[in-house]
Amino acid sequence: MSSVSVRKYGDGFVVRYGRRKLGLDTGFEGGTTLLSHSHMDHVGGLKLADLVVGTSGTFDTLKARGGRVRGGKLTLNYGESYTIDQIKITVLNAGHVLGSSMFKIEIGNGPSILYTGDFNIVDSLVHTGAHASDADVLITEATYGDPSWVFPERKGVYENIITETKRLQEENKIPVLKAYSLGKAQEAIGLLNKNGMETISGNYSIDAVSDIYRKHGKEIQFLKLTDEETPAILTGEGVVISSSIRHTLLNVRKNLGRALAKELHNKMVVLSLSGWTLGKYREEGFPLSAHTDFPGLIRFAEEVNPRLAYCFTENGNTLAMHLSNNGIQAVPLG
Ligand SMILES: [Zn+2]
Repeated sequence: MSSVSVRKYGDGFVVRYGRRKLGLDTGFEGGTTLLSHSHMDHVGGLKLADLVVGTSGTFDTLKARGGRVRGGKLTLNYGESYTIDQIKITVLNAGHVLGSSMFKIEIGNGPSILYTGDFNIVDSLVHTGAHASDADVLITEATYGDPSWVFPERKGVYENIITETKRLQEENKIPVLKAYSLGKAQEAIGLLNKNGMETISGNYSIDAVSDIYRKHGKEIQFLKLTDEETPAILTGEGVVISSSIRHTLLNVRKNLGRALAKELHNKMVVLSLSGWTLGKYREEGFPLSAHTDFPGLIRFAEEVNPRLAYCFTENGNTLAMHLSNNGIQAVPLG
């Protein structure tokens, strides 16, 4: 019987089993690509693929962010399967961003493979956490795959963000929450909405992706810089969401004038929403992560219970070592 091989290819991976091969978050000439989500480090080479498999959330956010697929698109919902060349592909929720997917790949009477893409097992205000599915081979991300990465409970992080944001407003500052335009920005908007706080998007990329979230039934409300009431809210009780402070300041100057841009620049206090606010990176802000922390990665792998695990991204070595110590044969990938 053939064995499965997994190799780094472009920004993603290629899985081979006998003569069959699949791209995972990477395209290759004439092939099929499984696209886990539309963050920039997962969409390389898509134009080369004959067929790209993903969810409507992934394809919609990809388009909103300027990405393109040249070949065919196969859209599947969570839980749906598609069989191509005797390979059954099932899409599972990854809990990372809108539409993000894990893929379960079952090859004829060969092994089953679970590819996680980026994933989060924790529920958030706008995303539902991922669940493990058993497989012979696990290909798992390891972004926070070092024991030093342990995230606090999300509810407490939410409370801390709101407390600090309100405190800054009382000091006549303008809180600016810095967040990735896909995923974290919409979670931040949802959090501010829940607490009745006026929210302004400072970047067009956040506008575009948030509109897709709304199209997919996520009820998030925010002002764009082009909205009539934005100037009064900005200098009143507004909280700005920004994926790029430099661009936000430029956008405010362009849409609302030099004086308001200057006022924002003088009064703003930037708080990052990211797992990287913990540990040695110490960005000012709060550890709100769209990824699974170290204990979660270990627990997830134990639930998948694979014969072999591949660990990708920068902490792949460390996670592989810890999984091996926990009785799961594991190797870094990439
Ligand atoms: Zn991602």
